[in-house]
Amino acid sequence: MTRRRWIADSWDEATASLTGEQATHLIRVLRAEAGMEFDVVAGSRVWHAVIAGITGDAVRFNLVAEVKSDPALPITLLLSVFKFDRMEWAIEKVTEIGVERIVPAIARRTEKHLAQAAANRVERWRRIAREAAQQSRRSDVPLIDDPVPMKAAARTGASDATRLLLAEQERTTTLRHAVEESLAQPDLTAELPSLWLAVGPEGGWTAEEEALFDSEGWKAVSLGPRILRAETAAITASSVVASLLE
Ligand code: SAH
Repeated sequence: MTRRRWIADSWDEATASLTGEQATHLIRVLRAEAGMEFDVVAGSRVWHAVIAGITGDAVRFNLVAEVKSDPALPITLLLSVFKFDRMEWAIEKVTEIGVERIVPAIARRTEKHLAQAAANRVERWRRIAREAAQQSRRSDVPLIDDPVPMKAAARTGASDATRLLLAEQERTTTLRHAVEESLAQPDLTAELPSLWLAVGPEGGWTAEEEALFDSEGWKAVSLGPRILRAETAAITASSVVASLLE
């Protein structure tokens, strides 16, 4: 029987608490009582937890024992801001797939009104990622950065990361080949390389953006001859990489 999983709002080494709407749901809808057992995510670790007490609209748990959890995949998605409904669908899907971080970026062809509204939308994106992480029983919630201009985004990413630009014009190197090459690198640490995937907006990359990424050491890779929508490209690229890492 899989215990329902909650992501704690606060915790220490022995206890964790839920507050806000999660606690209200647990108290009102699931009729929480001391002794009930759940999985609680606290500090990117998953615990078998038992309700210790309910005060007002907060539920406090004792953390009994750590539960084996599968960490997120070392994938960061640099996601150009595009139509919010489709972008939010992509955020939910790549969270399920196991992406660990999303950097929303304002591309040259990001529609102006979306670029202006992005900063006010990021809290909603974080809530979508949190709910998708909970639903897919992840032991962590993907980090979603505040939106950044593309110039800054192209410069993020540790220099030892493998940084791949999903380029709709690219015809020689496939994403899969680039990742297999990266994984074949004789690496000193046993760690998997962190992989950064950059996806353009509906209008695609401009020549200047492709030159910028190239100058910053990103490698252009293809997902095949067909032109995918941005959300399709984000989900497909994350899946291809996930399948090679797991
Ligand atoms: N409007 C553009 C396509 C943009 S698609 C055109 O018609 O050419 C949005 C983004 O998805 C692209 O910038 C790219 O990052 C990604 N993408 C779409 N199809 C791709 C492919 N076949 N290979 C690699 N990336 C792709």
